Parts: sequence; structure tokens; C-alpha cells
Amino acid sequence: MQSNNSFQSFSTLKGEFLPTIYPFSSEEKISEALLKANEAVIPYGKTSFVQRADFLETIAQNILALGEDLLMQAHLETALPIARLTGERDRTINQLKLFASLLREGSWVDAVIDTALPDRKPLPRADIRRMLQPIGPVLVFGASNFPFAYSTAGVDTASALAAGCPVIVKAHESHLGTNEMVASAIKQAIDQTKMPLGTFDTLIGEGPVLGQQLATNELIKAIGFTGSYKAGMALYTTATQKRKTPIPVYAEMSSINPIVLLPKTLEEKVEQIATTLSASILLGVGQFCTSPGLIFVIESEAANRLKELLAHHLKTANSAVMLNQTISKAYYTDQKKLIGYDGVTIIIQGQDESSLYKATPTLLSVNAAHFITEPLLQKEVFGPCSMIVVCKDQSELNNAIMHMHGQLTGSFFGNTEELEEYNHAIDLLQQRVGRIVFNNVPTGVEVCNAMVHGGPFPSTTDGRTTSVGPEAIKRFVRPVCYQDCPDDLLPVYLRNKNEAGINRNINGVITNVSIK
Ligand code: NAP
Repeated sequence: MQSNNSFQSFSTLKGEFLPTIYPFSSEEKISEALLKANEAVIPYGKTSFVQRADFLETIAQNILALGEDLLMQAHLETALPIARLTGERDRTINQLKLFASLLREGSWVDAVIDTALPDRKPLPRADIRRMLQPIGPVLVFGASNFPFAYSTAGVDTASALAAGCPVIVKAHESHLGTNEMVASAIKQAIDQTKMPLGTFDTLIGEGPVLGQQLATNELIKAIGFTGSYKAGMALYTTATQKRKTPIPVYAEMSSINPIVLLPKTLEEKVEQIATTLSASILLGVGQFCTSPGLIFVIESEAANRLKELLAHHLKTANSAVMLNQTISKAYYTDQKKLIGYDGVTIIIQGQDESSLYKATPTLLSVNAAHFITEPLLQKEVFGPCSMIVVCKDQSELNNAIMHMHGQLTGSFFGNTEELEEYNHAIDLLQQRVGRIVFNNVPTGVEVCNAMVHGGPFPSTTDGRTTSVGPEAIKRFVRPVCYQDCPDDLLPVYLRNKNEAGINRNINGVITNVSIK
């Protein structure tokens, strides 16, 4: 709940307000956080990779040391089960460690050295060296649906800190107590590893006010965001059009993650597919950015059977408490809008339980012809709601995929021959997603080197990057080139002596040797 100048968290789990009141950050506090972040830009940016790795590992240890208290706080504030929160906390710790090991290995910095060619004819070549440098203070928005992994010490913060950027987190109203605890773990790590004071801070206030104020501030150099399309686009517009200097916005906003079920495989495995799909739709009460909101089938007996089986599984699932009151209300409002469009039929629709902050699963169906002509059928309904799109044949399936907006993921269920036969549909979907999954559901994002968690608009505002995995660091750096720079003025990673022993590209050869 929000009063004029404070928030009080409402626990949808208990159906009551939690006792602590969180005042909005004062103007003095906001200015101080920005100025301190700015002051930290050079000293923090110049810390060695090993120092930053130590810092990230210390944050991880401190978060772990918060133990059950942290899990309990997040449980009360988000209603997410303890087991899920434990997994998410561990993932957050692993993300911090992943960036620490990336820093220790060092080649991420993309050090390229083209040594001088004084005797080159007709003109000599200068000594030219390049590496990635931190972009400056990063504004991170905590996400309602991931109180750990995409919030205060989540992947945006971890990758920005790894890159050498100070971070200011705009805390999410839904889990302010969790934010406070994790922020204290980060601040303690700043102390323990002697990082500049302004390396990290967190601020509290309303998105359209504080969020916009920070996004407009010229000291902020990039934004990381996970949430709604509306807020993500408001930030994008501000960052690119309302500032003196535009800045990059990495907003993950809305994705309905299409699943394409090819006919033979559906016929052979309809029961297994229905079980797997319904579990994925229900996972986390559908409050995942990778939740499958669209299922493409080709008209058949098996497709009809799939509808029956999915309806059965979803109907027999218990309704479950959602993250917050706004999200549970939006779940029913948004699905009612979908149902209002031409050609949409209800397969199952549970009772509106938003007064209990609960979501009941919903399954809808529409013919591809309607899907193709009504782009609003692709609006994300955040929660356990999915729509089956029935296509007449392969050609209509291709046409429907061609009308899909950008997504984080797309899945195909099919055997080897079918996947060959539907190769064009795969090519079409590949143009519209960040990750293609074969014979599995998209929920469950592995944190690993090759992962891409991103995708074309509107799933994100910048489909060239990922917010999961080591590549996420590249969002918060830019290449800087040094021409004929004296050796001792160069960043240590570009000097002749390769003290850190990292791999560098020297005159086109990848090597970890020093330059004589
Ligand atoms: P949200 O409304 O987008 O809020 C996310 C953050 O942005 C909050 O800190 C919010 O602050 C801030 N904000 C809101 N409007 C803003 C603006 N105009 N300018 C700057 N900042 C702004 O998301 P949410 O609260 O997490 O959930 C609401 C809906 O977002 C859900 O129902 C769902 O549809 C969608 N969602 C999608 C995903 C996904 O992964 N695709 C994840 C989470 C949520 P305040 O809270 O103070 O307004």
C-alpha cells in the first residue's frame, strides 16, 4: 500500500499488511546516491578484475549468511514458496559467482592490440589498443516476480558491478524488506572488500516519479529493467527521447513464448505433451517471463484431444496466490480483454479469485485466421493463461508464425523427420525469438555461458543481448581505443606486460604472452 510518502508491503500470503513502513527516499538521499555513484565511477572502474571478483563473491557469501530470515521475508512479501525461493536465492549466488569467474579469467574484456608498424609503406601504423570499459552508473529496477534473481543483487546488478559500473537499484514495492536485507549484504561487502562507497545504493519511491527522475538524470548511463510493457516503454521513451544524452535501456517486458506442436508427434505423445505443457503453464502461478502463453496446433483429432487433456489438468489444479494485488487483478482484467476478441473461445475459465489474490488457470482457443488479423491477441496475460491457435495446415502455421511479435522463446515438439519437413517454420520462428527449444517447454532458464535470455521487440527493447549468462556484462561496457598511449598510462590489461595473464588478441593472434 502507498501513502503520500511511504510504502507498506501487503502480504497476499497472509492477506494483511506487514508491519514495516518504508518511507520514500528523500531528495537529499536521492542526490547523495547519484553523486556518490558518480564519484565511484573512476575508482571502481579502475579496480582490478580480481578485486571485483572478490567483491562479487563476498556479496554471494553475505546473502547466503542471511539464511532462513531472508527466505522467510521474501516468502511473506511475495507468497512464493520457500523451496522456489531457496532455488532462486542459490541461482542469484551462482550468478554472482559466474561473473566472478568471468572476471578472473579476464578474456571477456576483449583486449585487442595492434602494435605499431613504423616501417609500413606508404604510411606507418600507430600502436592501437582497445578494450571494453564500464559505461558508468547503471539504474536497475527490481522485478516483482524474481525478488532475488532479477532484483537487488540479481543479474542486472551482478553484470553491471562485474563490468565496473556503480549501481543504483530502484526497489520494487512488492518486496522492500527483502531489498533492504540484500542491499545490506552488498553494502557490507563494499566495506569488507574496500570498494568505493558509491558503488551501490538502493532507493525507494514510485516508479512513475522516482523511476522517471532517476532515468532522466544525466549521471545515469544505462538502465536494466524487468516488468510490464507499459513501464518498460515509459523508461525507454524517457531514456532515448527525454534526456539531453540518450542512454541504452535493457528492458525485458512481455513474452508469450509460442509452442508449436507438430502433428505426428502430437498424435503419438498427446498425453505426455499435455502433462508437460500444463505443468509449465502452472509453474510459479504462470508468473514467469518464459510461461507458454500460445500453443500452435494443426487441426486434427489429436489437437482436440490435447484441448481435453489440458483442460483436465488445468481444471484440477488448485488456484494459487499471486505475487501482489495489482498482478492478481491484472490477470483477470487482461484475460477478459482477450476473451472479448472475435473468434476466441473459452475451453476453461476459473472463477475470478482476485479478492483472495489467487489465479485460477484459463485455457482459450482461436483459429489462426483470427490470430493473424488481431495483433492484440498477442498481449501477455501474466499468470496461468494460455491460448491454443488452431491452424488449417502447414501453410497457415507458417503465416501465423510470420505474424508473431518478438518473443524470448519459441518451442517445437516434433520428431526428426517432422522437424525437417517444417524447417521453414523453424526459420520463421528463429527470426522472432531469442531461444528455440526442441521437444521441451521454455520455463526453466539455465544460467550458463551459451544461454540467451532476450529477444526481439516487444519481448525486450534490445534483442542484441541477453540478461542471463556472462554475455549480460556486455550491456554495460563500451569499447575504448588507445592510440600511441604510453605503456604505463594504459589500463593494466592492455600493457605490454600481461600481468593478469589473460588471453588477448595481439596482431590477430589470441595469446596470453607479454609483448617484448
Ligand atoms: P511494472 O508495473 O512494470 O513495475 C516494474 C517497476 O517499474 C516497478 O519498480 C515500478 O514502480 C516501475 N515503474 C512503473 N511504471 C513506471 C514508469 N512509468 N516509469 C518508471 N518506472 C515505472 O511491473 P510489476 O509491478 O512487476 O507487474 C505488473 C505487470 O507487469 C504484471 O501484471 C505483468 O503483466 C508484467 N510483468 C511482466 C514480467 C515479464 O517477465 N514479462 C515480469 C513482471 C511483471 P512502482 O511499483 O512504484 O510503480
